[in-house]
Amino acid sequence: MSDAPFEQHPADTAFHARLPFGERLDASALTEGLPWAFEEITMRPLEPMLVPEKPRNGELDPENCSSCAPSEFTIWQDDLWQVRAGWDIGGLPFVGAISPREHWLLEDAPHEVLAAYGPLMQRISKAVKSIPGVARCHFARWNDGSAHLHLWALARPAGMMQARGAVLAFWDGMLPVMTKDMGGDHISIVAEALAAGGGEAFPNR
Ligand SMILES: [Zn+2]
Repeated sequence: MSDAPFEQHPADTAFHARLPFGERLDASALTEGLPWAFEEITMRPLEPMLVPEKPRNGELDPENCSSCAPSEFTIWQDDLWQVRAGWDIGGLPFVGAISPREHWLLEDAPHEVLAAYGPLMQRISKAVKSIPGVARCHFARWNDGSAHLHLWALARPAGMMQARGAVLAFWDGMLPVMTKDMGGDHISIVAEALAAGGGEAFPNR
């Protein structure tokens, strides 16, 4: 991306016009709505919402997209999809990024690619749940960092009711980090379980 000044202005829709910018909003929706996870939360004051938003990685320059380039962190791939993990071992038993091999956004991905995701999602869930100590595999799609379509698979530890729902992702940064060996073992379990159903584990190893 160039360093040219990026002209932004406040979003001026009816939705935005009613928001209390600069004010600190009440977080009791989290402390009372998700009491198993939070006791006390202080929100940052609501910041201005500026548009147009800055381009995401690979949005203007797909040739420099990191999801398109081969990666040592690709743990499994087939002709259409790839799963990456292990660039940062965290506190959850497994966190993986799932993306098409080619540079598609959700908005323009061919139906053939999207249709293949359904069965793959089922395979990933089974593979992640085969890690010892994992009860569930949750999926998320947050595409604010990279334009290339990607989804997340996150393993919830068995019995960890404090991490149920969307707060699971936050626990990855709070639970004690796994050893490299344990993180690597979990990645191998997922990669090999996926490859047993087709595709290739560790294509760059
Ligand atoms: Zn890409």
